[in-house]
Amino acid sequence: MARFERVPGEALVAGRGPRDWDADGGRPRIGVLALQGDVLEHLRLLDQAGASGVPVKRAEELEDLDGILIPGGESTTIGRLATLYGLLEPLRKRIAGGLPAFGTCAGAILLSRSALSPDGSPSEQPLLGCMDTVVRRNAFGSQVESFEADLEVAGVEGGPMHAVFIRAPWIESTGPDVEVLASVAPVDRDGRPVDVKVVVARQGGILASAFHPELAGDARLHELFLELVRERASRS
Ligand code: GLN
Repeated sequence: MARFERVPGEALVAGRGPRDWDADGGRPRIGVLALQGDVLEHLRLLDQAGASGVPVKRAEELEDLDGILIPGGESTTIGRLATLYGLLEPLRKRIAGGLPAFGTCAGAILLSRSALSPDGSPSEQPLLGCMDTVVRRNAFGSQVESFEADLEVAGVEGGPMHAVFIRAPWIESTGPDVEVLASVAPVDRDGRPVDVKVVVARQGGILASAFHPELAGDARLHELFLELVRERASRS
């Protein structure tokens, strides 16, 4: 008579709670919103940082995640596609209910409670509104003013990160629960920073970065996000 042994992969069909990471050898399961942007690069860095990254295109795929990453691209396009795919509301609910989220560039815009156009007027577009931030789109200028900088990020060890800004937003204002992790500023003739702009911030389990860490292949911000994921899981 046939006998069924436990086989690798059983955990996939057995159903798993958000903290059942042993099934993946202790790797949290992080979704990458796969509507537009550097999905593969983020999946690779998540893997490097110690997570199991999975592309997410449908609302059902949000069910058994321990965290979600929203890549850069064009926030209006991602917002529209997410609405079209019936993902915006379920995603908003999951994040509001405590699912840790990491948004890079356009992802940081989508997480914010309100977005501004480059001239400071309101930008009407679908947002998740999960983070108490106001974000100014294309704030540093157009494509030609895209730039790179070496940035110290609070909570990231081992020296500055090489940050690639592409038509990047900055975080114009932050609510009382938002912690600023990195800023950029031109320096005056005496080397003093002027006109400081926030580019990385955190609110509880939500992390937002105006730059693209995946383009420099540096996994340390993804590692920081996984720490937030683990921190939240150990509290729940
Ligand atoms: N400028 C884009 C926006 O407003 C963001 C750019 C990016 O993600 N690299 O959505």
